Amino acid sequence: MRDLNAVCQIPRIGRLEIEDRVDEVLGECWNGSYPMNVEAICDYLGIAIVPVMELWTKFGVDAFMAADFRTIYADESEFRHCSNRYRFSIAHEIGHFVLHREYFSSRVESLNEWIGASVSNSCNYVEYQANFFAGCLLAPEDELVRVLNNEYGGSFARYYYMVGGEKYTRALTVVRQVFHVSEQVVKRRIRDTIYGIRS
Ligand SMILES: [Zn+2]
Repeated sequence: MRDLNAVCQIPRIGRLEIEDRVDEVLGECWNGSYPMNVEAICDYLGIAIVPVMELWTKFGVDAFMAADFRTIYADESEFRHCSNRYRFSIAHEIGHFVLHREYFSSRVESLNEWIGASVSNSCNYVEYQANFFAGCLLAPEDELVRVLNNEYGGSFARYYYMVGGEKYTRALTVVRQVFHVSEQVVKRRIRDTIYGIRS
């Protein structure tokens, strides 16, 4: 049995770098429309999406990337309904492709090992990076700020202290509708965006 901790020792990738990597991908293959077409992005990157029956109910995962980083296996039910959850899962796996492919492909021998490594405690930040990437991909900051500014009369940054207020609740709904993401993702993206504006 190989030491998975050794497998997981990847460089830390900061938020700004992740945002840059998202911009690179979008700059190459995004047509400017919403919601973000994650399947078209996979096509562009040469990644196939293969639906798997009961992936979630039997194995407790929404999707996972094959060890060769060429195939994403996705829960068939989520795939069929193209749910927000499905789209986030695919965006998350694209994040692994963009951020972690070179590292993992040279160190991991099997799919099970990769899955084991990616969910081990020592590797939580790998998942954090992929989640942050997914949020940025589905709701890029410039576009998010544009939508929020629209809701906040052109100056969202001045209203950051109103998180939790009536405007905020309405903005959550609008952002969810524009980007087709869950409320959890919207809240996280708004929080990250506010942090970015303030810092
Ligand atoms: Zn992951």
